[in-house]
Amino acid sequence: SRKFFVGGNWKLNGDKKSLGELMQTLNAATVDPNVEVVCGAPSIYLDFVRSKLDAKFGVAAQNCYKVAKGAFTGEISPAMIKDCGVNWVILGHSERRHVFGESDELIGQKTAHALESGLGVIACIGEKLDEREGGITEKVVFAQTKFIAENLQNRNSILSHVVLAYEPVWAIGTGKTASPQQAQEVHEKLRQWLKTNVSEAVANSVRIIYGGSVTGATCKELGSQKDVDGFLVGGASLKPEFVEIINAKV
Ligand code: 13P
Repeated sequence: SRKFFVGGNWKLNGDKKSLGELMQTLNAATVDPNVEVVCGAPSIYLDFVRSKLDAKFGVAAQNCYKVAKGAFTGEISPAMIKDCGVNWVILGHSERRHVFGESDELIGQKTAHALESGLGVIACIGEKLDEREGGITEKVVFAQTKFIAENLQNRNSILSHVVLAYEPVWAIGTGKTASPQQAQEVHEKLRQWLKTNVSEAVANSVRIIYGGSVTGATCKELGSQKDVDGFLVGGASLKPEFVEIINAKV
């Protein structure tokens, strides 16, 4: 069975004071021990966050580059992330794709390098509003998943290190959460795609989490869907409400 996974994506938010207070709240909270929790911190604070956050919580970087070192001003590598005691990275987030113009190919290369370096990857996919309205949601998310899954084939040992995050772009930061049925429908199709194009073992073991305006109010019904194995939470992960979302299954 798949361990429920709740990621917080702090994006470009917070400072040492406010994040310090948030971490105090998280550290003191009673959280479901059956849930894997990972907080995605701005890269400049990775060391700080890893030193302040209780060890029962994982930490993620929000991006990394596709090689370990070299003349790539401004980038950070999986090796550096690991050197800070951090074990996860979020890759392919819609803001990386659509604000910073990252391609499927680059995201695939980053995923491969991060996995080879021993990081867990939260790999994000999702359609834009016009794509959903145009009836091509599946086509879009399958194509995005293909670039990620190509780096998974014949690497069964790393499967537990990939979490697939379905985040419809129209639901991110808009307050328009996908309905539980909309999320379940896409998650089920993604799992079927993995079964057909990768393997049954991969399809059964990879956690597929939902992101896009998840709140304390919407998390329970979303989390009860058969193929929804957790959440990737933006805005609400910066508030005490994140604890409620972690505990969605209890
Ligand atoms: P919101 O929860 O703020 O909609 O953000 C979702 C997201 O992008 C998580 O990666």
